[in-house]
Amino acid sequence: MYHLQQAIGILGGTFDPIHFGHLRTALELYQALDLAEVRLVPCYQPVHRKLPIATPEQRLAMVRRAIDEEPALQVDDCEIKRKGPSFTIDTLTALRKKLPDTPFCLIMGIDALLGFPSWHRWEEILQATHLVIAHRPQYQLPHTGIVSDLLKQRLKQNSDVIHESLSGSIILHPVTPLEISATDIRKQIAMGRSPRYLLPNSVLKYIQEHGVYSISHI
Ligand code: ATP
Repeated sequence: MYHLQQAIGILGGTFDPIHFGHLRTALELYQALDLAEVRLVPCYQPVHRKLPIATPEQRLAMVRRAIDEEPALQVDDCEIKRKGPSFTIDTLTALRKKLPDTPFCLIMGIDALLGFPSWHRWEEILQATHLVIAHRPQYQLPHTGIVSDLLKQRLKQNSDVIHESLSGSIILHPVTPLEISATDIRKQIAMGRSPRYLLPNSVLKYIQEHGVYSISHI
């Protein structure tokens, strides 16, 4: 077997705004799975959901502020630079060109896994990366359907697989449940309430300075 580099985690999202649910998940998986880093990839234009409120530049700036002092977490602005609909397969293909020998671990919550078969070219995504599913207790894994079949074929109990091959396996890993959602944070701000302690102070400061989620936007 040829020599593989240390695996990296990839966490895509709208990050509208980034919050402790994203950050804690990324850091816990970085530590538990012995990843070289976790790259946060803010999308330009989400494919599966309505348009974000903050601009791509604002969402990128908030991610940068959030991870400023944590070397384990990095930001990748490739989707924002590429513009257009942010298809994960395009991001993985571009990353693979730069890092041909690095196992990739695409991190997603169970909520995202449930919708995975509707992702653009999802079968190719599994050829390009492993999936690391952050287990959130309120979501159940399905017993029938495409996702259930996928898990039967690819779910591995031992997470060492992510260091032994470039792609193709699925692992499930618990993370501290933090029921924080960006939607809720935006609503609180629009209602004039403070979202403090749900997201980093540096991000909150940016939101306040730029009036990002003022009531007129919601
Ligand atoms: P929104 O409320 O606007 O839908 P969100 O808070 O769910 O946003 P996203 O940017 O859509 O955030 O999420 C990106 C990724 O982070 C997804 O894979 C999602 O499953 C995961 N995620 C979101 N919130 C949490 C959380 N509280 N804990 C763990 N993972 C999360």
